[in-house]
Amino acid sequence: MDKVKQIQAYDVVVAGGGPAGIAAATAAARHGQKTLLLEVNGCVGGTSTAGALPFWLGYTNGSIPFPWMIKEGRSYKDCPHPRKAVGGIFEDAMNRIKAAQGGVGPCVLGQTDKYPGLDRLGCHDEFTFDIETGKRVLEEMLTEAGVTLRYYARVIGARREGDKVAGVYFADKSGVQYVPAGAVIDCTGDADVVDQAGFETYKGDKVTGEMTGCSLVAHIENIDPGAVEAYLNAGNDPWFRSLCEQAIKDHPDMDLPDSLIIFPMVQEGVFMVNGGTSFGGYDGTDGESMTALTMRGRQRAKNLVEVLFRNYMPGAANCRLRLTASYPGVRETRRIISERALTEADLLNGTNFEDTIALAGRHFDLHREGGQPFADQGKRVRKGITEIPYRALLPKGADNLIAAGRCIEAEGQALGPARIMSTCFAVGEAAGTAAAMKLRSDCPFRDVNVSALQADLRENGAEIDA
Ligand SMILES: Cc1cc2nc3c(=O)[nH]c(=O)nc-3n(C[C@H](O)[C@H](O)[C@H](O)COP(=O)(O)OP(=O)(O)OC[C@H]3O[C@@H](n4cnc5c(N)ncnc54)[C@H](O)[C@@H]3O)c2cc1C
Repeated sequence: MDKVKQIQAYDVVVAGGGPAGIAAATAAARHGQKTLLLEVNGCVGGTSTAGALPFWLGYTNGSIPFPWMIKEGRSYKDCPHPRKAVGGIFEDAMNRIKAAQGGVGPCVLGQTDKYPGLDRLGCHDEFTFDIETGKRVLEEMLTEAGVTLRYYARVIGARREGDKVAGVYFADKSGVQYVPAGAVIDCTGDADVVDQAGFETYKGDKVTGEMTGCSLVAHIENIDPGAVEAYLNAGNDPWFRSLCEQAIKDHPDMDLPDSLIIFPMVQEGVFMVNGGTSFGGYDGTDGESMTALTMRGRQRAKNLVEVLFRNYMPGAANCRLRLTASYPGVRETRRIISERALTEADLLNGTNFEDTIALAGRHFDLHREGGQPFADQGKRVRKGITEIPYRALLPKGADNLIAAGRCIEAEGQALGPARIMSTCFAVGEAAGTAAAMKLRSDCPFRDVNVSALQADLRENGAEIDA
């Protein structure tokens, strides 16, 4: 890299501006650190905006696996909301979007004010928002906190000095640049920086290597919600399996799903297609694989609209494709090897940690080939809430590098609740707050005073006491 330009140093550099990165950068900056957020897309929000999934789950606990809800004919309103699982910056972001008239919820589904029967499509704890409002409001929140944002900036390397990361390399239209950093927070989802710096990671399931399917989410508009509601009220399957079966029979050579999971968005007549856009066998850390997934997803979206929805879905004869995501939805890739993994056993046994820095309110929902293993076997998160230990954020052997979001070390099925967006916000907030404390105390992340960190998080409205 002959022409690398060095830019000014930052106290904290956050790589990736998804739910985890937004919260990490906001927390670090609110704690007085000069903070840079590097994001490869042209907006913050990650999977929830560029990935077209404006559907933050996990604000409360008490949800049950969607397949059970459907099997039992329940709607999200039948589920209790025993307690709030996430506060802090997540709640702040949610309230700001609501104040901008851009969001519905939490625990209320879009369009159900007029069409209550659409309840049967929901998960029960979601906050749904208008993507454009979300992008703007989240950007405003970061700017107000004092974060410097650089869009179109992909982190491509890390300069390692012993157990420290001296800074990161990123590339954008201005070329390859180097930014020195006091602390680095990896919120790329894929543990890119941890990997680039040469700290250990692993991909997918620790034993089998399997990674949950990726999606190119689509939104379809101009659907009559009343017709969908009538279909559901008549007791029909909210996964639309018989419609799909018929469409596949009629169009055997076409790439069509065998079921659909659709969610009403905030705009009347608009539905997000989540289940029905997923494909197994792709790798979110492989550029060619992501290109292939994106192209396949786009063809799938065309088939969904032009064949499945227009001809089989009630109220959708004149529907149109509103958008496909501008980048693929990736559920699972690399995880860090940390100081202490959050394990499946922790969730099944309800482990209490001394260094809990966030809670996850959702159940096991990670798909593997053939279903959701733990949910299908009736296994439940013991306490109905999961404690996330600080040590799961700490790449083994690293001094000034920490991870947040779906790349923390949550093994196997434990990733299900840990990767939910509200939880990613909460873990990001903890990482950003810890970065400020680490720099103030001039100690490695692993030596941050955890009691002081917990006290600070509580003071700022975070939920950490299970
Ligand atoms: C199809 C699908 C459906 C889901 N459904 C839901 C749901 O309904 N509700 C829910 O709460 N959760 C859902 N999830 C899970 C949730 O969306 C993710 O686990 C969560 O978004 C992870 O947050 P994150 O901040 O770790 O990563 P991401 O949201 O992936 O954000 C990572 C950010 O980092 C950026 N980035 C990546 N690499 C680099 C780099 N090298 N340099 C600079 N920037 C980089 C990306 O552009 C992105 O903005 C779903 C996930 C998928 C894929």
